[in-house]
Amino acid sequence: MTPSMTTQKFPNKTNPAHYHFEDVACYQCGSKKSQYFLTGEEDLTGKEGYFNYVRCENCNLVYQNPRIAADQIKSFYDSEYIAHRKKTNWGILTPLYERAMSKHDRDKDALVSRYVKITSETKVLDVGCAVGTFLLHLKKKYGAKISGVDFKEDLSFPGFEQIDFHCGLFYEQKLEPESFDLVTMWHFLEHCYSPPQSLKKAAQVVKKGGKVIIEVPRLDSLTYKVFQEKWPGVQAPQHTVLFDKESLISMAQKNGLKVIDYLPYGAFPAYFYIFAGTYFKTLGKGLNLNRAIAPYFLGQLLLAPLLAFEKKLNLSMQTIICERTE
Ligand SMILES: [Zn+2]
Repeated sequence: MTPSMTTQKFPNKTNPAHYHFEDVACYQCGSKKSQYFLTGEEDLTGKEGYFNYVRCENCNLVYQNPRIAADQIKSFYDSEYIAHRKKTNWGILTPLYERAMSKHDRDKDALVSRYVKITSETKVLDVGCAVGTFLLHLKKKYGAKISGVDFKEDLSFPGFEQIDFHCGLFYEQKLEPESFDLVTMWHFLEHCYSPPQSLKKAAQVVKKGGKVIIEVPRLDSLTYKVFQEKWPGVQAPQHTVLFDKESLISMAQKNGLKVIDYLPYGAFPAYFYIFAGTYFKTLGKGLNLNRAIAPYFLGQLLLAPLLAFEKKLNLSMQTIICERTE
């Protein structure tokens, strides 16, 4: 690949010799001209490395460049990354944890149900479904027909076999065009190595009048302003793109989707970003959930008065509701 034309030099931080990086042009406009934006680290699990993000000089999209090579990114999605979703024993905090996890799926349900009436006839595709708890919730509550895609192979969870599961890259899947009433992407697009292709694929597989609902972290949010390179939404190197409101909407529009509604929040709890950002900034990287879980719930209780206004404060997330253009 040709060298990128990043005009400002990256900070000189060394990475492990076995990491491979590749230069990428802007996902949105193809320009190779960019300015240094920030350096992120793997704060969640504490793995080694420094990952640079740039801002496109042409269209303002912020993206990881150079990015870690596609064949190496899988090692950053190891068991530590999703194990917490499978872990069932949190001691005396188990009921609180279980309630928080099922609340997340119920909050996703409440959000999508404002736009799609889910019944036993509704065909739902969750892109980046992980262990599939959201889909299983929809099946249990409504009898919905559930399909999921994830590039992770060794997923397992009680009930997972009820999902019509497709393993691999979303845009490479053989899926019937115009076959889904609802396509959801909960924190998938910012991980994707080709977001425009995924958006085009979503536009292709959703029925006319069906909805594509996409939630990602919001760069132009309050928590980013506070935490900057320690903002949990950086989540390097898994996050390839850091979307602000404008870039999310315009990328969807350029790839076959019409944005019919915009929400300055999502189903993912903004509080997690407040907690994790504070943790990364003060204690450093590597979030030890075993130790953090009690302070997590305590903090949530203390911040409850603030979090009651979560939907109005532009704290950390954003969601677009889309239909296919034609
Ligand atoms: Zn661009």
